[in-house]
Amino acid sequence: MRPRRPVVRLPGLLTAAAAASIMNALCRRDGENMTDPLVIDVEALTQQEGRQLQGEVEARIEPIDVPGGTIAASEPVRLRFRLTHTGERQLWLEARLTARARLTCDRCLEPFDTVLTAEYEELYRPRPEDAGPGDEPEDTGEARVIYYDEDVIDLREGIRQNLLLAMPLKQLCRDDCRGLCPHCGQNLNEHACDCEEDAGDPRLAALAEWLRRHGKEEEV
Ligand SMILES: [Zn+2]
Ligand SMILES: [Zn+2]
Repeated sequence: MRPRRPVVRLPGLLTAAAAASIMNALCRRDGENMTDPLVIDVEALTQQEGRQLQGEVEARIEPIDVPGGTIAASEPVRLRFRLTHTGERQLWLEARLTARARLTCDRCLEPFDTVLTAEYEELYRPRPEDAGPGDEPEDTGEARVIYYDEDVIDLREGIRQNLLLAMPLKQLCRDDCRGLCPHCGQNLNEHACDCEEDAGDPRLAALAEWLRRHGKEEEV
């Protein structure tokens, strides 16, 4: 639900331009974005070079769908950050992020919960006047560069990208997951099955099975 905008009574003597600027400021602060702790007003920070803002926030983000699961659906993400004004209204972000994810084990195919963590840096630059809304800056070698508008930086897209990068290459419910029996499909974490112990390399199981049948057929 969108928060209601406040009723603003403007003094009669205000110029139209001043009134418009006050309205803009109020609406921006009360708008949907400004209620999100991951959208940060940096006006005070950019007044002076070297100023820093650091904090820790817990916030809900739009859950991220990944193959076999979702990130950040059940709990808010936690972000520890430091923003430094490095001059010319550029803001250097150092961040440490944790989020809960529900994934599917590659071996036993059961869902499991895990925590993703990421440490990253980003550089926020005011959008140049000749850059359109869709124009994106080139990254420096060290960090992703993001344009920001007005006096507001939005950390959510960086969070989304870094959570995707934090995904494990192999999703395992636990390091020693025993997986499924390649013959009968039994989840071997739960209990063993009666299939032969020396089934060998599961990738060769199909071939072994074929050879076994083929051999039998020849015998007939
Ligand atoms: Zn597993
Ligand atoms: Zn089996």
